[in-house]
Amino acid sequence: MLIGAVEAGGTKFVCGIGNEKGEVLDRISFPTEQPEKTLAQVVAYFRDKQVEAIGIGSFGPIDIDRASSQYGYVTTTPKPGWANYPVLPELKKAFNVPFGWDTDVNAAALGEATWGAAADLESCLYYTFGTGVGVGVFAEGQMVHGLVHPEGGHVLTRRHPDDTYGGKCPYHGDCLEGMAAGPGIEERWGVKASELPVDHPAWEMEAFYIGQALATSILLLSPKKIILGGGVMHQLQLFPLIRKQVQDNLKGYVVSAALEAGIDDYIVPPGLGDNAGLTGSIALGLRAYEEANS
Ligand code: ADP
Ligand code: ZN
Repeated sequence: MLIGAVEAGGTKFVCGIGNEKGEVLDRISFPTEQPEKTLAQVVAYFRDKQVEAIGIGSFGPIDIDRASSQYGYVTTTPKPGWANYPVLPELKKAFNVPFGWDTDVNAAALGEATWGAAADLESCLYYTFGTGVGVGVFAEGQMVHGLVHPEGGHVLTRRHPDDTYGGKCPYHGDCLEGMAAGPGIEERWGVKASELPVDHPAWEMEAFYIGQALATSILLLSPKKIILGGGVMHQLQLFPLIRKQVQDNLKGYVVSAALEAGIDDYIVPPGLGDNAGLTGSIALGLRAYEEANS
């Protein structure tokens, strides 16, 4: 069976074809421009591909409430042309197949829980630390939705004692995204994040903020696995620093082997690597297919 997948990002769109094993069989990528032009490229790509369902993991915020008149819209993004744009309704006009629709990070969490680092677990969190910070929440076998969708990239942070940087979030200043996303790191230190040496104090500070957020989410949601992806997490030296921060913050209060001897297997990189987003969208499409045919 062929499933279409769209990883709809604010910078680029990735479209691909996958199968029911989560294997990526084909992919293309193009820059995100005005929605009419970009969606025309999506439609052209899938036109002759014979997919039986399409999953879309999208940048946000998006409307994922099926009862809403704006279900399938990108909502309040500052990205020119995309605010209140009906992404899903437009694609539905072109293809008469079941569609899965969720946030990019919820899709990635589902992909990891289906075929990746959290395979066969009923809960996991997927964080991305890149241009922004996003969190996908998978719990009791479902992507978590609510008023809107989780926005855990914007939780408040306690400031590192040596940090005088004001933070880069346009809404909150020094929320998690403001302090720990790539653009904040780069403004604070005045260099590209990818060029900071592995032993630079930036990474200890980064782990301080990420470790706080993870400890909070462990207390709140008790996930069985936490997966950390995005460009910043290419700095693999962050993982041991973050694990230690989580333990220091929790102080043994949450009793689980996963937080002690098992922590190296609890806070991990994506099992699906840099395919986590696209494979997550395949998983969304597969769920939509199964739901339509059950
Ligand atoms: P996006 O969030 O736009 O989907 P990425 O997850 O690739 O894309 O994030 C891009 C950001 O990640 C860049 O702004 C940069 O600050 C940071 N980044 C990318 N590569 C690295 C790297 N090797 N080390 C540290 N930071 C990186
Ligand atoms: Zn914020």
